[in-house]
Amino acid sequence: MNADSARLKEELAEQIRERLRYYSSITSIGLRPGSASETPASAEASRPSETMADSLDTIRADLSDCTRCKLHKGRQTLVFGVGNPEADLMFIGEGPGYEEDRQGVPFVGPSGQLLTKIIEAIQLTREEVYIANIVKCRPPSNRDPEPEEIAACRPFLESQVSSIKPRVICTLGRVATQAMLSTEKALGRVRGQVFSFGDVPLVPTYHPAYLLRDPSKKKDCWEDMKLIRALLDERR
Ligand code: URA
Repeated sequence: MNADSARLKEELAEQIRERLRYYSSITSIGLRPGSASETPASAEASRPSETMADSLDTIRADLSDCTRCKLHKGRQTLVFGVGNPEADLMFIGEGPGYEEDRQGVPFVGPSGQLLTKIIEAIQLTREEVYIANIVKCRPPSNRDPEPEEIAACRPFLESQVSSIKPRVICTLGRVATQAMLSTEKALGRVRGQVFSFGDVPLVPTYHPAYLLRDPSKKKDCWEDMKLIRALLDERR
């Protein structure tokens, strides 16, 4: 590498560090792991307490033929999650739709195709990340999952996070973001910022289905993805 490209690389790294300091300063919840004042109390309180994380297979086996909420009545397939069990980046969507319910895999319909492009835009593949949902069974007519349905699934999702230990979580859309951050704030008020789920940085962005309906929001999503890329690079 010659002197010019080394200087360029250092300038770029400094710009990224500067951007991270800025994001850290504009969020009420910063990036430093393990600091209680920087972690939403509700997220901290609801994290699983065991120190030995279960494997994804054990968590799936615990779920078994789940009947813990009424969503099981209408499902064809329980959609557990897919991807790298040691992923650096974990996406969390809302709940399975028609195709996901049929195939048992999250994000395989039209919004899944857009999610694949979003993942590839930050130089990752679907196989490298992990994708799960707030609820594992399809809500009828794709309605929002209800609070007791989210609550029934939550321990299993939290166990998945503990098992995977991602470096960054990206919540897709309002339902996933509000559930993971235990907030009622609108997505537009929280996206573009870094929160934390326990000690994992969490970046909310728009749901791909929403981006399909309103492509003008794709540029905001791209900003969020660049932020995620910077977080992943920073924490290497
Ligand atoms: N939308 C979601 O939120 N999750 C899926 O798995 C599919 C569509």
